[in-house]
Amino acid sequence: MKVPLFFLFLMTGFFPMYILGKVTDQSFRQTQIDSRVMEVQNQCLIISNRMSRADYMSEDSRDATVDVELDTIADIFNGRIVVVNRNFKVIKDTFRLAEGRTHVAEEVIRCFQGESGSRLERDKHYFALAVPVYGNTEEKNIEGVLVATASTENLMGMAERVSEKAAFFQMMAFWLIVLSSAALVMILVRPFNSLQKVLNRVADGNLDQVISENAYKETRELSTAIRNTLTKLKTVDQSRDEFVSNVSHELKTPITSIRVLADSLMSMEEVPVELYREFMTDISDEIDRESKIIDDLLSLVKMDKSVAELNVVQLDINGLVQQILKRLRPIARKRNVELIFESIREVTADVDEVKLSLAINNLVENAIKYNVEDGWVRVTLDADHKFFYVKVSDSGIGIPEEFQEQVFERFYRVDKARSRETGGTGLGLAITRKVILMHHGAVRLVSKEGEGSTFIVRIPLSYIPGSRQQPAS
Ligand code: ADP
Repeated sequence: MKVPLFFLFLMTGFFPMYILGKVTDQSFRQTQIDSRVMEVQNQCLIISNRMSRADYMSEDSRDATVDVELDTIADIFNGRIVVVNRNFKVIKDTFRLAEGRTHVAEEVIRCFQGESGSRLERDKHYFALAVPVYGNTEEKNIEGVLVATASTENLMGMAERVSEKAAFFQMMAFWLIVLSSAALVMILVRPFNSLQKVLNRVADGNLDQVISENAYKETRELSTAIRNTLTKLKTVDQSRDEFVSNVSHELKTPITSIRVLADSLMSMEEVPVELYREFMTDISDEIDRESKIIDDLLSLVKMDKSVAELNVVQLDINGLVQQILKRLRPIARKRNVELIFESIREVTADVDEVKLSLAINNLVENAIKYNVEDGWVRVTLDADHKFFYVKVSDSGIGIPEEFQEQVFERFYRVDKARSRETGGTGLGLAITRKVILMHHGAVRLVSKEGEGSTFIVRIPLSYIPGSRQQPAS
């Protein structure tokens, strides 16, 4: 950014000045020449009038005073005056070189035709102008032409000196612009530099940097964006730490139980076989629990990877729900919980069978686990033109309002003891929500403590890969 900015300032500062200098120089030279031509022309017109009055062109009456005047004027403008008669003969030359010779030049011919004018020879550094000399008669015939030539060399010399001075000032201005451009660039990019320094410290791992660069709107917005990103990063960092400590704790619990059971068995002498069997059964249960936690964790980690891993097929959702209920019926029967399936319409949708089955299974299993004796669980399946809805309601213990968002977090359990008792890992709802979000759906919970809970799942009938996930509600 620094280099382009520097050149931009340099160009905008220097180019107009350079072009202005060139134009001024040109017009200065032109003005100088024009005024010299005018001056000479005026002198020539005056003397031409004098010559007309004195009838200078008639051979017998050449006035010597006019000759003197011609010489004087030629001396004044440091040039040469030649007078040519109608036969193109030079009758007067202030340089005394061409008298008697023929002088047929373009401007002379033109002048005889009534067009007086001047001609500038830029390369040869002189100009020539022709002025008619009229006869002293009534008709005012052009009897001769007065050709004045004058050098422009001294004019050009003066212009050259002025140009040199201007070039010197331009050079000074150029360096001044270079310095001020560099200074301006430094001042302009300073806020970005300080932002970069802070970011370098962040990159070194110091996430607690104060990022607030308010010099420009851009740096202010950038600072805000970076601050938000850092806050998110810190949250991710924190939740990762929390997750790791939760995982360690959860995995340690069954191992601790196994250790206690094994230690107490070992410390006893003469242990009856029944006690052995009982302890070994407990140990086996703890191993099952450990294995379930690991399985759930693996499912979650796999789903964290990418949406592309969804194995989407067109599936009969009614069949899927019925299969899940069939699998869970024995557990429900154990607790004397009635399982009701209410299918409002036949639904076919694009879903990942294994993952969605896991998600709905978790909801129905929870509805049975956190139910009351002789309670009921109702699963309703409905659809509209865009989505299908799975509603899992139960007559269970319900979830207090303040925990309703948290139950979807990993390892969050309202009643730890009850969850443990029922073999819960605290990962079920986290898996369910993940699966639903992967299907670009949403899950909503309505519950009242002591009255029961209802989980409402909404999933699009057709799966469009890569489309935006809809926020869970
Ligand atoms: P768990 O393995 O403990 O069941 P989940 O993630 O499935 O873990 O559920 C998290 C917590 O949410 C449970 O421990 C329980 O306290 C609460 N919960 C889930 N479903 C229900 C429900 N239908 N009724 C009451 N509480 C529930």
